Amino acid sequence: MDVGARTHVGKVRRNNEDGYLVRDGLLAVADGMGGHRAGEVASGTVLAVLRDYPFGAGEPAAELEQAMRAAHAKVRQLATEDASMAGMGTTLTVALVCPGRVHVGHVGDSRLYLWRQGQLRQMTADHSVAAELLRAGQIDEEAARVHPHRHVLTRAIGAVPELEIDLLEFPLEAGDGLLLCTDGLSSLLDEDDMLRVLVEHSTAQAAADALVQLALARGGIDNVTVVVARPD
Ligand code: MG
Repeated sequence: MDVGARTHVGKVRRNNEDGYLVRDGLLAVADGMGGHRAGEVASGTVLAVLRDYPFGAGEPAAELEQAMRAAHAKVRQLATEDASMAGMGTTLTVALVCPGRVHVGHVGDSRLYLWRQGQLRQMTADHSVAAELLRAGQIDEEAARVHPHRHVLTRAIGAVPELEIDLLEFPLEAGDGLLLCTDGLSSLLDEDDMLRVLVEHSTAQAAADALVQLALARGGIDNVTVVVARPD
C-alpha cells in the first residue's frame, strides 16, 4: 500500500501530544493527555513500544494485544517513577495490515476508517462519554456532537490500572484504503469532507497533508494527526 502521514500541533495548543507510527504493515495514531509534557510522553511511549515490538512470530491479533498491554504497562511504570507524569494517558488506534486482512487494536477516541468503493466507514467506536451515551440511546447524534463531555475519554492507555482493548479484524479487499486519525481531525471534518480530500489526491502523502491543512483552515483547535494508506 501507499502510506502517508502527517501530524501538526494545530493553531491553538503549544505542544503536540499526538503522534503516529508507520512501520512495515503497522499503522498507528496516539493522542496523549496529561499535565506538563506528560501527554507527549504517554503517546511517544506507546508508539515506541509498538515500533520495537517483535511482530511476526505468532498470531497477529494476539501479538497486537500483547504489544498494547506492554505499552500500557510501560506508561504506568513511567507514571509511578515520576510524580509529574501521574495520571498520564493516551489513545491508541493500531492497524496491523496482513495479506488480505487487517487487525485493529483500539482504545480511546482516535479513529480508523475503511475506505472502500467510494465510501468511508468508521470501524472503531469512540470511547468518550458522549459516544457511550449515544450508543446507550440516552442522547441523539446532535446532542452527542455538542455534549460538554464529548472529549472526555472513558478509556485510555495508561490512565487506569485495568486496560480494556477493542480488537477487531476485517478482510482487506483489492482497492481498499485506510484512514487513521486523532480527534483533532474528526472533530473538524465530517466523513464527506474526508472522503472528498482522499479522492482529490493521488498519493497518500498528498492526501494526509491536505487533510491536516483543512483541519487547520477550520481553526486547528487541537493537535491533528492523520495516517492514510491507499492501494498502490
Ligand atoms: Mg486530540
